Amino acid sequence: MSQSFSQLGLSAELTRAVAEQGYSEPTPVQAQAIPLILAGRDVLAGAQTGTGKTAGFTLPLLQRLITAAPPASGAGAARRPVRALILTPTRELAAQVEESVCTYGRHLPLRSTLIYGGVNINPQIDALRRGADILVATPGRLLDHLQQRTANLAQVEILVLDEADRMLDMGFIRDIRRILALLPVRRQNLLFSATFSDEIRQLADGLLHAPALIEVARRNAESELVAQRVHPVDNWRKRELLTHLLSSGDWRQVLVFTRMKSGANRLAEQLCKAGIEATAIHGNKSQPARTRALTGFKAGTVRVLVATDIAARGLDIEELPHVVNFELPNVPADYVHRIGRTGRAGSTGEAISLVSAEEKPLLADIEKLLTRRIESRVVPGFEPGQPPPAAVVNPPVERSGGDLQRRNSGAHSRSVPSRPPGSVTPPARPGVSVPPATRGNPPSQHAGSGAAAASPALFRSPSRRGG
Ligand code: AMP
Repeated sequence: MSQSFSQLGLSAELTRAVAEQGYSEPTPVQAQAIPLILAGRDVLAGAQTGTGKTAGFTLPLLQRLITAAPPASGAGAARRPVRALILTPTRELAAQVEESVCTYGRHLPLRSTLIYGGVNINPQIDALRRGADILVATPGRLLDHLQQRTANLAQVEILVLDEADRMLDMGFIRDIRRILALLPVRRQNLLFSATFSDEIRQLADGLLHAPALIEVARRNAESELVAQRVHPVDNWRKRELLTHLLSSGDWRQVLVFTRMKSGANRLAEQLCKAGIEATAIHGNKSQPARTRALTGFKAGTVRVLVATDIAARGLDIEELPHVVNFELPNVPADYVHRIGRTGRAGSTGEAISLVSAEEKPLLADIEKLLTRRIESRVVPGFEPGQPPPAAVVNPPVERSGGDLQRRNSGAHSRSVPSRPPGSVTPPARPGVSVPPATRGNPPSQHAGSGAAAASPALFRSPSRRGG
């Protein structure tokens, strides 16, 4: 059942602008968000780039500004106060969003301006002085303006946090909180985030009033071109199964997801020991090291890139032949994000998930989001339900809490397999290369909360203030 933009309640000026863009019907996030925002609701939306989220908040925001009060006739900041503030993590995104504001608002008498760091501040001061209804900004530079009193947010009616998870990843939380403190209490709040970590929920709890919740999958993420498959397997045999899949399928370029940085490191080390070129990519590595890893991966010298969700988010790698979920993500939307990296632009791709018994609730959540079951196939020789060999039963247990661990607390908590893949190897099976035993690693499956617990400083960039 397709809807038109005008059926969502958008004015003629806005539907005209949309038609000029060539959009015939709203995307799912637009169909859900637009009426809610027009009704004045606070919104918490799980939507990534590519879903049409920008128009999803920009169109109703423009309409609310136009209908809430007649546009100011004069110029100057006093007569044209900032009424809508859109915060984004990076200058590129800010520029993109502001361009959308201009595009969709082209038939409306509203004015927007763009504020980000790393460039001369004076032209921005001039623009702010001339007045703008809509301010699109990165947090660091906006704070500079607020401190210098060259921007005033006392009349903001609508606040948008776009890609809020990325802003937190980049360490902007304190800046955001300082900005929030300068906004009027009565306002509409819209929070868009690709993932919902505990930190995002915390931010949302303090910010949003009775929010409407929207969660949509990435557009075409579930492309038919991506073959999705689950391999049920015991935790303690996951690494061995991965090695087996790599060699039997002759996979040359594989992005493997783990939940935690430590798990990513450990797995990469173990693969290297097994003679497979692998690198872990995470925020503890310097930018040059990450770039090197990525270049090697793209060039084919690194066969396996092991990444956490957050580390992978900033990576420009798409259209991969193989994505492996070594561990399922705690947040179902992250699964969609992960598999969205394969099978793009006409190329076929394969998304494989190694799923232990303890992860079945996570799999159920993912299938609920996808509204379908993922094909499940046991790999011969890797049938689950086998006890680990005696030597691997009681390695030290890492004690950081995580979503899965919490979910599994209670009845399951004592039965969590306590051996990381490959920490001490079980007897070799025919055709499976088994690396020498490594030190007694903690279990990677249940040790932490992955995206939810990943350090917000993970992606703190040197240009943080510049946004
Ligand atoms: P976004 O998720 O906001 O980054 O948008 C992703 C892309 O989808 C942008 O290039 C938009 O121009 C495009 N887009 C947004 N809304 C629609 C729509 N209703 N129909 C087709 N394309 C759209």
